[in-house]
Amino acid sequence: MNELIRPGSVWLVGAGPGDPDLLTRKAEKLIRAASTVFYDALVGPGVLDLIPAGVKRVAVGKRSGRHSKDQPSINRMLVDAAEAGERVVRLKGGDPSIFGRATEEMQALVERDINVQICPGITAASAAAASVCSSLTLRGMARKLTFVTAHAKAGDQLDLDWQSLADPGATIAVYMGKSSAAIVSRNLIAAGMAKDTPVTMVENASLAGERVFHSRIDLLPLAAKTALGDGPAILLIGKAMQRGKLDQCVNPARLEALQ
Ligand code: SAH
Repeated sequence: MNELIRPGSVWLVGAGPGDPDLLTRKAEKLIRAASTVFYDALVGPGVLDLIPAGVKRVAVGKRSGRHSKDQPSINRMLVDAAEAGERVVRLKGGDPSIFGRATEEMQALVERDINVQICPGITAASAAAASVCSSLTLRGMARKLTFVTAHAKAGDQLDLDWQSLADPGATIAVYMGKSSAAIVSRNLIAAGMAKDTPVTMVENASLAGERVFHSRIDLLPLAAKTALGDGPAILLIGKAMQRGKLDQCVNPARLEALQ
């Protein structure tokens, strides 16, 4: 199986939203073929359990506000491991190509002539939509889907194009948006978004501690403050999140977790 990762090369592997059953088969094969695994804080514990005994595993951070390693240090560690001849898997929550700093890591590796490839993963927005039995797009109503991060560098303003985000024919998936929920709400309404636009918040999507909240854009600040806990959370905003009959439809895994 080891020919899957040549010694001295690196795979950036999408670990999905947390549930190991949401890994791709390829991701699992790569995890089993690695000699060293670097992983983020958002990689689910069930995914880490798939790392064979004896394989070196290195935690490299990063939860918002609780960084354990900065990006240059992570780049350096990947380069060093590859240059030492390891078969390196770099596990990243969700999909490596969505708010995952994949380009920085790939650049650092190719600069040293290290072979690097990506294995995609299920991103948080897809997992969250599945958890609430919603479609992110809706024929005739939500023709556009925008992935946006509401995380600003410390001290920086959130510099987003609110006007285009407020498009009534779109769904917005807001990553890292928990602490900016009030700013997101205020700016979208100021840009013309209807106040009763549905918002769904999913915390710990696909994990045992999954929690789901349905609200509206004008009530989002309060809802986010009172309802959300410590886990990673994603906001899905737009008409496609309207509930209606779908209220009856919940992910069975979530029901179990709630019992
Ligand atoms: N590459 C990841 C995103 C990394 S940014 C992906 O494709 O999903 C980190 C943000 O992703 C978190 O702040 C949160 O907004 C979202 N996220 C990641 N895992 C999540 C989960 N299990 N449930 C809800 N949101 C999640």
